[in-house]
Amino acid sequence: MSAILNADLHCHSVVSDGTLTPEELAARAKANGVDLWALTDHDELGGQHRAAEAARAVGLRYLTGTEISVTFADETVHIVGLGFDPDDAAMTQGLYDTRGGRGKRAQEMAAQLAQVGIHGAYEGALRFVGNPELISRTHFARFLVEQGHCRDTSEVFRKYLTEGKPGYVPHRWATLRDAVRWISEAGGLAVIAHPGRYKFTANEEYALFTEFQAHGGRAVEVVTGSHTPAEYVEYADKAREFGLAASRGSDFHSPDESHCDLGALPPLPAGLTPVWELLADRIR
Ligand code: AMP
Ligand code: MN
Ligand code: MN
Ligand code: MN
Repeated sequence: MSAILNADLHCHSVVSDGTLTPEELAARAKANGVDLWALTDHDELGGQHRAAEAARAVGLRYLTGTEISVTFADETVHIVGLGFDPDDAAMTQGLYDTRGGRGKRAQEMAAQLAQVGIHGAYEGALRFVGNPELISRTHFARFLVEQGHCRDTSEVFRKYLTEGKPGYVPHRWATLRDAVRWISEAGGLAVIAHPGRYKFTANEEYALFTEFQAHGGRAVEVVTGSHTPAEYVEYADKAREFGLAASRGSDFHSPDESHCDLGALPPLPAGLTPVWELLADRIR
């Protein structure tokens, strides 16, 4: 297999909270020079066969992917899974259960927003939803921007929908242990997504890495659209310290919202094991 120069192993389609279809993403990844791609919709495998087929059609190597919502130390942590069997029954059921609370949570978010004078947010967010099982905060953010409450979705997440702000509803997602197990037992590899984004103390972060690894997790995102250059260095060091492989992904959601386009990332820092080397036999 020729060397992989540009791997993008984290992005979202209309099957979760992205605005492009799997086919549009494959075409965009190809146009941007990506040569190994994974679609990682939140808590969903519904786009996997389409993405793999679209990747093949445009001549792009592909790994199956997902991004699982996990509750750890009372915070939401995201665990990316790569290279698993997209038809695995236990994982499919686990993700179905993980998605299950989203409808009720969305109703509660809308009720809170109504209390600060923003009415019709549930119906409004639904208009942006591509998958009725996957209503997310991103869809509410798009509705608030459309209604002129905020200029862009980042402003929404500063003023609403986050802890202490109107529209924030705490939610219990999958456990770390279950998420890592679903991925591993389906033949894939678990990756800690964008660790620089969590508001953990040093001790809590150490506990996340340690427990993740104890459950069989193997990699961490080092170069991601969610990290600063200083965080590339910080998490490259963490990967070496824990003996974890390193992943790379834009976390692209939308041409209008994402500051990092598909494949538009620096290379992994030297001296790391790229996660795709551990997944060579899972690449299609
Ligand atoms: P949910 O799974 O419903 O809690 O929604 C989480 C999603 O909201 C993430 O996957 C991001 O797409 C989006 N999100 C969270 N925080 C921010 C932020 N600060 N700026 C932009 N998007 C965000
Ligand atoms: Mn998202
Ligand atoms: Mn994430
Ligand atoms: Mn993501």
